[in-house]
Amino acid sequence: MRLVLLGPPGAGKGTQARILAEAMALAHVATGDLFRLHQARGTVLGKEAASYMERGELVPNRVTIAMLLERIQEPDCAKGFLLDGFPRNLEQARALDDALAKRGWVIDGAVYMKVPEEKLVRRLSERLVCSQCQAAYHTESAPPTVEGRCDKCGGKLYQRKDDSPDAVRRRLQVYMEQTYPLLDYYRTLGKLLEVNGEPPIEEVTQEMKRVLDRVGLASAKGRGVK
Ligand code: AMP
Repeated sequence: MRLVLLGPPGAGKGTQARILAEAMALAHVATGDLFRLHQARGTVLGKEAASYMERGELVPNRVTIAMLLERIQEPDCAKGFLLDGFPRNLEQARALDDALAKRGWVIDGAVYMKVPEEKLVRRLSERLVCSQCQAAYHTESAPPTVEGRCDKCGGKLYQRKDDSPDAVRRRLQVYMEQTYPLLDYYRTLGKLLEVNGEPPIEEVTQEMKRVLDRVGLASAKGRGVK
């Protein structure tokens, strides 16, 4: 099964993608995480991506598409994958569909997490991310057990540069201009599924599972997602 997770920055895509990918035995592929990994390793790609990311702009399609298509050819993606943060514009969506078609694959569903804008700005300004495993925390609604440390791996938590007010404003603008039209793209293909991303994490996960189940896409570890 191959799924896409859509939604504005701060909708909780990364958090839900980690939970769902684990429950459904899919590879979790997040382009933002891949770029941050390149940055941490100091690669040429990481350096090129950093200047765009800090300003809240999209990294050019040329590099992003190549990186993603390479990633989904890795063995762990053969069992299916959940894309988080890709595609972010129509050119990326079409490039993905073309590449999948060559292997006889398709995107089975695109899950859209809907969250109102005022909530997004607050969530992003309160967000802390693990420098090792990229898990996200929120100082108000989902704080770590030990301040400054990741519950899952003990890694140091930090605030992303692109969670600054200026970058957040730009990211939301870019989302509306370039990514929002993808809802129509997947709707036209009959693949769009919508969930309310506002409630607490566990409730959103349950709704996602229900929505996927309803259209027969919840084949988690062979027994349906529980
Ligand atoms: P994210 O972790 O998904 O919020 O992504 C962080 C940043 O990485 C974005 O604001 C972009 O600068 C860059 N990025 C991630 N995914 C993409 C993509 N599919 N296309 C272009 N830029 C991306």
